Amino acid sequence: MTTKEYISMADEAILHTYNRYQIVLEKGDGVYLYDTDGNKYLDFASGIAVFAFGYNNKEYNDALKEQIDKIIHTSNLYYNVPASKAAEKLVKIAGMDKVFFTNSGTEAIEGAIKTARKYAYNKDGKNDHEIIAMNHSFHGRSMGALSVTGNKAYQEAFKPLIGGVKFAEFNDLESVKALVNEKTCAIIMEPVQGEGGIYPATEEFIKGVRKICDDNDILLIFDEIQCGMGRTGKMFAHEHYGVKPDVMTVAKALGCGFPVGAFLTNEKAATLVPGDHGTTYGGNPLATAAVLKVLEMFESQNILENVNEVSAYFDEKLDELTNKCDSVKAHRGKGFMQGLELTVPVAEVVKKAMAKGLIVISAGGNVLRFVPPLIITKENVDEAISILEEIL
Ligand SMILES: *Cc1c(COP(=O)(O)O)cnc(C)c1O
Repeated sequence: MTTKEYISMADEAILHTYNRYQIVLEKGDGVYLYDTDGNKYLDFASGIAVFAFGYNNKEYNDALKEQIDKIIHTSNLYYNVPASKAAEKLVKIAGMDKVFFTNSGTEAIEGAIKTARKYAYNKDGKNDHEIIAMNHSFHGRSMGALSVTGNKAYQEAFKPLIGGVKFAEFNDLESVKALVNEKTCAIIMEPVQGEGGIYPATEEFIKGVRKICDDNDILLIFDEIQCGMGRTGKMFAHEHYGVKPDVMTVAKALGCGFPVGAFLTNEKAATLVPGDHGTTYGGNPLATAAVLKVLEMFESQNILENVNEVSAYFDEKLDELTNKCDSVKAHRGKGFMQGLELTVPVAEVVKKAMAKGLIVISAGGNVLRFVPPLIITKENVDEAISILEEIL
């Protein structure tokens, strides 16, 4: 079959919720992807911040294959070996107390929202609790996660959303303070806003939000689905600021390609009990075997060291590009979560880059987003920069 035929088959049968680029990706190797026409691409998107260790990683693939031959699924009515091991490791690495595994990021957010509401309910028995979320945030597409996502275009057709959600301005502490009252049960934010346009929180803001939560017995939820798992050079982005959440969501690179997410809580926020929450698939042996292997590889491969070293170089090169090119208005980011705000349409740049063999993606506010595999080298950075320089 030809590429055209694969595309028309998909367009016939798959609900048109994405405007896809006109390539069919067939295989990957390391930091490179290959399409059905044999074109090779340097991947600076990693399936939207997912494939931290690159494609076709033998150690990872072998771990999954081994688990497939043992047992893939058991349900959560029983214990299973990979879930026990992955949970112990993840809780420890995250510095949290409990974990609940989900199948996606949006489901992790649902669990975090339920956790917060239950926390407040346990205190006063009321059903009118409020959550403060941030404008330009992104937390997912299911109804609860969409309700705390600060993007009106995503919400409009699907109202009514869950009630009691108020939006503050990211990095504006006064706007948060103005919304706090006795009904507030949680504040939810990304330490580095991803889809909203790569905006890192300021230290003053994130510390201020933590203090508001402490002073008012409100749970602080950090959505680390995109910025977590080593992407910013620390295992979790909030570690840069020296503040801890009460609840944290992770997904994307948690399974490095296997669909899995999680929400983690500290002891006081471990509010959900039997009957409150559940999932058929969540944390099944295959998913948690992936998580376990990923966490092991973070340690054995010293991946954070690579992120810090190579991202400093990447950062410098992006600064140079910003100074050199009129089409680049601003450069923001942390580690391997970088964005260039453009004065020219970002979609055109993404397409041109693809034609030259570089895969990049966009983010809100006309931002070119870079979330490469965490294993990229300085040579990979040079390759990407030279393509970008030609285009920009
Ligand atoms: C991707 C993302 C989500 C949603 O995760 P899905 O797995 O797509 O449901 C939530 N929050 C953030 C910050 C994300 O980047």
